[in-house]
Amino acid sequence: MPKAKKQPRVRKVPQRTCVGCRSVRPKRELIRVVRTPGGDLVLDPTGKLSGRGAYLCPDTTCLRSALAKGGIASALGTSPSEELISRLEEELRRRQIAAVQQERKTAGGGSVDGENSSL
Ligand SMILES: [Zn+2]
Repeated sequence: MPKAKKQPRVRKVPQRTCVGCRSVRPKRELIRVVRTPGGDLVLDPTGKLSGRGAYLCPDTTCLRSALAKGGIASALGTSPSEELISRLEEELRRRQIAAVQQERKTAGGGSVDGENSSL
């Protein structure tokens, strides 16, 4: 008889609002910009820096609309510098590449399709 296993997969995921498109997404999917105690805005790829943060979807459209509407500035009280903006763009590109790789890796991750014994 097959046992019904309980999978503790439904964990509470912290949600944040993107300052570009205002949609709410899981925090880990978003890019965090932090205002340091010194008043500088920095990119926080690890999500571990302390300070006030603003979140962006990994999407250049959101970055552009956040910049156009001043979403980052109003969330953090400071406008991002040119340097930070180019860092963000770079990070977005990196995330998009990573997302594609992740998709390939986790394709069929939820349902095993029989071809699972490569080891
Ligand atoms: Zn967004």
